[in-house]
Amino acid sequence: MIESPMPWHVSAWRQSVALRSHALLVHGVAGSGERAFAIALAHAWLCEAPPAEARPCGRCAGCRLSAAGNHPDLRVIEPEAMAAGLGGAEEGSESDAEDGDDGDTGRRTSKPSREIKIDQLRALAELAQLTSHRGGARVVVIHPAETMNAAAANSLLKLLEEPPPGMRIVLVAEHLRRLGATLVSRCVRVALASPARQVSMTWLGEQGVKDPAAALARGGGAPLAALALDDGEQSALWRGWLRGVSEPADSAVQAARETDAVEVPMLLGWMCRWLHDLGRVKAGARPRHHPDAFDALDRLARGLSLAQITRLARGFDSRQRWIRHPLNAQLQREALWLDYLQGVTPAAGRW
Ligand SMILES: [Zn+2]
Repeated sequence: MIESPMPWHVSAWRQSVALRSHALLVHGVAGSGERAFAIALAHAWLCEAPPAEARPCGRCAGCRLSAAGNHPDLRVIEPEAMAAGLGGAEEGSESDAEDGDDGDTGRRTSKPSREIKIDQLRALAELAQLTSHRGGARVVVIHPAETMNAAAANSLLKLLEEPPPGMRIVLVAEHLRRLGATLVSRCVRVALASPARQVSMTWLGEQGVKDPAAALARGGGAPLAALALDDGEQSALWRGWLRGVSEPADSAVQAARETDAVEVPMLLGWMCRWLHDLGRVKAGARPRHHPDAFDALDRLARGLSLAQITRLARGFDSRQRWIRHPLNAQLQREALWLDYLQGVTPAAGRW
């Protein structure tokens, strides 16, 4: 699919697409569409027709390759765990980034890395020696840039000192502090705005959503998620999932089977917001994302301490940074449901 920028990114888009810099640093709140923005930039730069309004034409050979996800002059560098969709955080693990692996020593570990490693950057340096396949730009997107380990970041710095001709690098980051001042100083920064609530509501209305406020609550304030949930098919899936979390079943396998049509990252996002609301209700507040499910949340919250809910919610939140496109989705679903069911019914004794 050819990516295009969201309405709340239009001014950032106009600035960025015209930039001639070889290194851009796109930063914004995770989930604000920052990755899609970077890919959209890449698609626009790789379009071989003069793009109208700086948008990719969608018809040329370059655009067709981009849309198919296999443009030879585009590389997206992400942590292995993110690309594989594995590597959820262990119970009690607060710090994902520090979970070291041995990427730089060449030793193989059993887990996919949660870091961008120097090998991935070496491949980039090799790419820099080659000429463009299609005769245009070569574009590299590094996401999330703050997951580069120290060796990888140093290697990138060297590359940026002598930028390879015709290569454009887009770093995508949420936490600039973690990137290091030197690296940040070598890039042109593009700050992405998060959509204001009213902008999101208007956009949702334009997409045909009848109750934008309710949809936005369900989507956790993220208009893209809200829109998807409003679609007939997804909305049915969501209601099925809601029954599953409201009335915890005995079997994680069964629960996973009943939600097997829900993409794992989405399932995880729903769980995270549900647990967030569970914590709110326990603390005496109204649920933010599930205003209609107060009774079910309240019933669950009565059997749990706030500490138990917080621990459970944190465990789910920390998984969110890594799950993308799991290789074995059903196992992931079962793991999520097992953690949830164990977490909300700790006294049941059936585990
Ligand atoms: Zn094109």
